[in-house]
Amino acid sequence: RQRQLRDLVDLPSRTRDGVSIKIMANLELSEDVQVARAAGADGVGLYRTEFLYMNRDDLPNEEEHLTNYIEILEGLDGIPITIRTLDLGMDKRTGAMADPSGGATNPALGLRAIRLCLKEIELFRPQLRAILRASALGSVRLMLPLVTNLHEVETVLDLIGEIKRELDADGLDYDPQMQIGAMIEVPGAALAARPIARRLDFLSIGTNDLIQYTLAIDRLDDAVNYLFDPTHPAILRLIRIIIEAGAAEGVSVSMCGEMASDPRFTRLLLGMGLREFSMQPGAILNIKETVLNADTQDLSARAEFLFAHLDDADPSLLLDALNAD
Ligand code: PEP
Ligand code: MG
Repeated sequence: RQRQLRDLVDLPSRTRDGVSIKIMANLELSEDVQVARAAGADGVGLYRTEFLYMNRDDLPNEEEHLTNYIEILEGLDGIPITIRTLDLGMDKRTGAMADPSGGATNPALGLRAIRLCLKEIELFRPQLRAILRASALGSVRLMLPLVTNLHEVETVLDLIGEIKRELDADGLDYDPQMQIGAMIEVPGAALAARPIARRLDFLSIGTNDLIQYTLAIDRLDDAVNYLFDPTHPAILRLIRIIIEAGAAEGVSVSMCGEMASDPRFTRLLLGMGLREFSMQPGAILNIKETVLNADTQDLSARAEFLFAHLDDADPSLLLDALNAD
């Protein structure tokens, strides 16, 4: 089986009916680049940059960010990368800030990710400058975590505009067309995704947080993880809304949460119109095998059937039916 999967590395990710699918890697450390390449990833759909901040007492400066991004771009050898801006807070800490959420009783609902970055602009600015500078050297997209509303998006777009003018003044290169997107992982942002999509170049569905916030279950609390269910009808409906918002606004939608790496959901997601998946590198070939055997026309009809019966049948049985031959 392993040998068979390895044979898939160089095949294009295309369904039986000829639809191209992007199967990308999630990276947390620059060292993982080689693993992603070896699995034949079509790109990096999520580069988590938190580790640059962890286990240290000061903050990384622009040059440090840039050095790290250049190192990764060199390892990627031309395939595109989506760099996610800092998602600090909740469980992710740095020695340079005692507690990013300021001792909040509920840090998952507090100052985290883009909220923290917009409050502490000096934390954010060096990373934005470095990502822009990296965009001059390879295929780089910038992605914002935990976006809740349009105002946050517009504030970041203004800030990026300002930084581009600074870089011009400093005589530093960047790609003026660098794509900017948002992770949709807050239920309210999913329900209001269209205007967000309209202002951006892409969306990416973060199911880990989307499930946490929609089903009110702390993703770090083992006592409630039995409730963590990607097939909950509310989750499936939210995912569908996000995919439809992207299609309506003509922007691409990917999924970079764990759900994208589980082959049990691949056929359903294809049937719902998802065309880009990003996952831990170890899952890539398994998902690719499912994609190569899939027919999107057939799956689209099956997904319609599943949604039509979502309120009168057990979703996991509907999913089994969708996955049956
Ligand atoms: C997610 O929330 O699904 C996600 C991909 O981001 P993270 O797991 O880093 O919060
Ligand atoms: Mg998340």
